[in-house]
Amino acid sequence: MRHVNPTEDDPTAAFLRRLHQLSAEMAQRTIGQSRTPDGLLALAEGMAELADVATARLTVVLPPERHSACGRGCAHCCKHGGVMVDPVSVLALTLTLTGQYDPVDLAGIMLRLSASAAGACALVDAHDSCLAYVARPLTCRVVNSYDDETCRQFGPPTVAQVAGGEGVALGYPVPLAIAAAIVAGVAQGLATCGILCAPVELNAALRVALSEPDVLERWLAGEDVFAGLVPLAPDVPSA
Ligand code: SF4
Repeated sequence: MRHVNPTEDDPTAAFLRRLHQLSAEMAQRTIGQSRTPDGLLALAEGMAELADVATARLTVVLPPERHSACGRGCAHCCKHGGVMVDPVSVLALTLTLTGQYDPVDLAGIMLRLSASAAGACALVDAHDSCLAYVARPLTCRVVNSYDDETCRQFGPPTVAQVAGGEGVALGYPVPLAIAAAIVAGVAQGLATCGILCAPVELNAALRVALSEPDVLERWLAGEDVFAGLVPLAPDVPSA
């Protein structure tokens, strides 16, 4: 099993360090200079694009060992619960949801968030599709698995696990290592602007972001709007 576990003088380590640096600069260039919804959306889009480009580059030298088991209609990762995401992704997702859905649909999403004590993402629909696929968080873009049955039982590895050196055995680790570098770089860039960017549990953070109309403005002003959120307990899948 191939892991992305670079040593200090390894070209992969240099690549990830450069990615971290580019992400920090991008955060300063976007939100640091324009504390607006547009600045936030630009940063979220920049993170997704950077992840795509970097993954394409690193895949050339570190190709996957197996075919991905992920595909349309497979939503084990969405249903397993406790999806940890970065605040930029959650706030950009919230802007998309409020722009895309009418008040009745949003009330329905809030109901699902209130009922999602088991931890399944409130945005996965009855057909196992994402209600906001185009605007899905960076975590959702990069999580993958070689084995859907293992994924069903245990859930896929998270960006945070990969950043901590764990959880890379289930799938292709390159996109997750890249996302970890980008998220850490963005957090560093935003920290220099006085903005906090600690990982949050998706359902809990979405509940806050959709129910408090000024949450983005307060976050951009440096308030820890997601402080104290407790990740929901993950679903225990049936045998
Ligand atoms: S936001 Fe979409 S892709 Fe991400 S966990 Fe929820 S349903 Fe799945």
